[in-house]
Amino acid sequence: MADNVRCSNCGAPLDITPETIATVCSYCGYLNWVRQDLKEDVLVVKPLDGKQLQEKIRNFAVRRKLGEVFKDTNIVELTLTLVPFYFIDISAEADYSGRVLVYITKCRRTKQGERCWTETRMVHVDGVYGPYRNVIPMIARRGCDVFSAKAIAYKYLEDNPRAIPITSAELSKNVWRNILSIDLDKKSVVNIALDMHLDELREIVVKVIEREAEGKVMMWSSGVVTGSTIIWKKITPINIKISSSKPVLLPVYTAVYRYGGGLHRLIVCGWDGDVIAFERPMKTGERISWGLLGAIASGVLGGLAGALYTINMFASAGLFILGSIASFYCMRRALSPIKSSIVEPRYRKVLSVEKISSVIKV
Ligand SMILES: [Zn+2]
Repeated sequence: MADNVRCSNCGAPLDITPETIATVCSYCGYLNWVRQDLKEDVLVVKPLDGKQLQEKIRNFAVRRKLGEVFKDTNIVELTLTLVPFYFIDISAEADYSGRVLVYITKCRRTKQGERCWTETRMVHVDGVYGPYRNVIPMIARRGCDVFSAKAIAYKYLEDNPRAIPITSAELSKNVWRNILSIDLDKKSVVNIALDMHLDELREIVVKVIEREAEGKVMMWSSGVVTGSTIIWKKITPINIKISSSKPVLLPVYTAVYRYGGGLHRLIVCGWDGDVIAFERPMKTGERISWGLLGAIASGVLGGLAGALYTINMFASAGLFILGSIASFYCMRRALSPIKSSIVEPRYRKVLSVEKISSVIKV
């Protein structure tokens, strides 16, 4: 923790790390730029309050016949986190050329039966691919790459909710207390996003080169193309266009309910109460990999706990402990599972690890 950095509005000490670029004062809610040189507007999507959120959860629970589990008297903890994002819009083309060895299998009927053999053709291809464009959400923090954060960014891009300047948002204390500080500047996230985008573009163009070479051979020769090997290639990104959004704070709620001797969590979108993922008691006959689920549970909570650490040590410790308890539970209950973890369908594609999504059942 750095010393002597104080809120320029009320003079209270600011809870910052050497990496902090901007942080909201937990006493007065004023946005302080520790790095004045990087100062810019910050936008926020205003969250529902706790009551509105609980109502959304109740409605969800009724629809899913889980009213007994997610009722107000069972609630143990309701945590709001506002995660800072940049949305990087990148478009690029690729100038490519390559030499590809294409394999063709040919067959001929003879008196002894069908005889097949493989031939090769060397093909040259070149051209320009694109433009390939994507909007990449980047969390303005290190070590906060958790599923709930990815899911909320994905939902933001799809739903496009209203984001307003934090200076005119009139946030209440229990909202501003939960804003994570901005720890990564725009320039570094733009560079990371650009690397990611160009890597993807190269991967696509490699396939384009193979497909184009195979296509050429299919046009010229009889036989069946059975594969290809790129012998040499050159891929140069051109016409790169990048723009970044202002930092946007997106709200996520984590709710914990106690039911039937277990804790059941929900991860909920903060601005409309849409449930992203939740745990419900196990239905009879369900089988699930509990060790893996435990890893997810502690990963999600542990990740959030780490993210919360700088602004709210108490909540952070609570989450971290919950994460540990949850994973411990999953391990212990491996033989007698009591609950299963469900990611709502529209968020499943956000899970980058396919193994995880195959474990989570509806
Ligand atoms: Zn202050």
